[in-house]
Amino acid sequence: MLETTDQRLRQREFLLQVSRAITAQLDLTSVLDLVIDVAVDLLAGTIGLIALRDDNGALHVGAGPGLARELWPAFSALLATPLDDRRALAQRLQEVAANTRLPLRQVVALPLVFRQTSVGVIYVFRAALNVAFTPEEQELLKDFADQAAIAVSNARLYQSVLHDKQQLDAIIEQSADGVMILDSRWRITTFNRAMEQLTGWPRDEAFGRPCAEVLAIKDERGVNICLVDCPLQRHSPESNPTVEGWITTRDGRQLYVRSNYAIQRAPTGEFLSAIANVRDVTEQKIEAEMQNTFISVISHELKTPVSIIKGYAETLAREDANWDRATLVEGLQVIVEESDRLARQIGGLLEVSRLQAGGLRLEPTDWPLPPLAAQVVERTAAQAGDTFSFELRFSDDFPPVHADYERTRQVLENLISNAVKYSPDGGVIRIAGRVADDHAIVAVSDQGIGIPPEEQTKLFRRFYRVDNRLQRETQGAGLGLFLARAIVEAQGGRIWVESQPGRGARFSFTLPLATPQLVDSERGTAEAAEGAEPRALEEPEEAEGTANQARKLLDC
Ligand code: ADP
Repeated sequence: MLETTDQRLRQREFLLQVSRAITAQLDLTSVLDLVIDVAVDLLAGTIGLIALRDDNGALHVGAGPGLARELWPAFSALLATPLDDRRALAQRLQEVAANTRLPLRQVVALPLVFRQTSVGVIYVFRAALNVAFTPEEQELLKDFADQAAIAVSNARLYQSVLHDKQQLDAIIEQSADGVMILDSRWRITTFNRAMEQLTGWPRDEAFGRPCAEVLAIKDERGVNICLVDCPLQRHSPESNPTVEGWITTRDGRQLYVRSNYAIQRAPTGEFLSAIANVRDVTEQKIEAEMQNTFISVISHELKTPVSIIKGYAETLAREDANWDRATLVEGLQVIVEESDRLARQIGGLLEVSRLQAGGLRLEPTDWPLPPLAAQVVERTAAQAGDTFSFELRFSDDFPPVHADYERTRQVLENLISNAVKYSPDGGVIRIAGRVADDHAIVAVSDQGIGIPPEEQTKLFRRFYRVDNRLQRETQGAGLGLFLARAIVEAQGGRIWVESQPGRGARFSFTLPLATPQLVDSERGTAEAAEGAEPRALEEPEEAEGTANQARKLLDC
């Protein structure tokens, strides 16, 4: 094999180049293939394989480019044989040759040792019995094996780091919280899917931008906290700061977020990078605010009737006054009304706490809806004043519903009294029903102040009241629609609102029918419920006469 000094020098030079080439490689398969190629060449072999040690110390074939994969298991017994047991090795080799029908006459094994740890073995097989290696050749082979061991260890380390990184990337990507990683200049280098959904920024556009631009967290006054008091720029020992505030997403949503930062600093203290964990806590924020307003709203709502009752009672009880009967009756009437109001408020609060404690108990039965609607309208109309007119639109053959009677009354009362409360100039209040598949849809519409689009989904929250002039002028604790929704949903239905500010509102809810109906054009339910169909509020009124048999007009 290597005969002259000159040849040996050239071999060394070749080995050096090969070693450089393989240690520069990081892909494990390429390193192993390269190492085998060179080993087979150096040892004048025909084929070779590399066995790598697993965590338990057992050897497994890692690469054998010249060997078909299905032949690899045939080498297991050979790999399990100690390298210093030459006889056993020769015996196993014969068995492998017989099983694989490969011309394997001799095996040379080079242990791969890195930092006193055996990482694997290179096996080179020869088809003929070659002469033994000289001491110089053995020295050369050992050098090669040492280089190969370094290259293999590096490639394995790289592979494991790569694997860990892929795992970490997957965890970050799948995280339900928004995660972004910032470099030393607070620029975004990682931006997960939850972050895209939260902010509306596609990651490709977020990459490289300052985090204060993509996640511009603002305080209640609208000041960008990230610009004026960025926690990452503070040279304080605080390592995991938190910022809370409002963001405007790219698609215009207002969200309240909490962002926790894990900061990495150099030993000298300067900022290196940060991982931000961002969570949408809008609901909690609103809930907390509602809890705060709860006390003020409720105490106001409860105190008002109490002080009216007290005032009237004290006045009527004055010993120096000699009230006539009419004044007494009038005063007592006010006391009764205010007591009723107080009882209603307390009842509402009890309902809410009962709801929170474990839901509503319902007793659904079959009953006709139009008489109940008429009754509620009649009572409301009596107190509403003459600026209002009420319309009831139900077909004569409106099918019975299957629902809790008293609870449904509560929903109707709330919607109809709201229609009155939030229509300061009066107008037409229409209650209409129609049938759709297995349920009825009831709609209460008015011509009042209406509700801005951004407020519409919030109305059904506990204690929520739209902030406007009427809120301050009208009584209410923001519980009616919350309870209405709870009742409707407990009956398997849904409730929604359509409105335009200044053009009235239409609240609709569904109720289960006693017997699911097949809607046919003959039944007249469709025209009776024109007003209940969700439609643009500015749609023209239906043609005169279409709903005549279904319409009762209650002018008050
Ligand atoms: P309350 O009327 O006691 O405040 P509700 O839960 O019944 O509580 O209603 C919540 C809020 O929804 C009201 O404060 C009002 O701002 C708004 N709202 C309800 N109904 C109407 C309506 N028909 N027109 C306009 N705004 C309405």
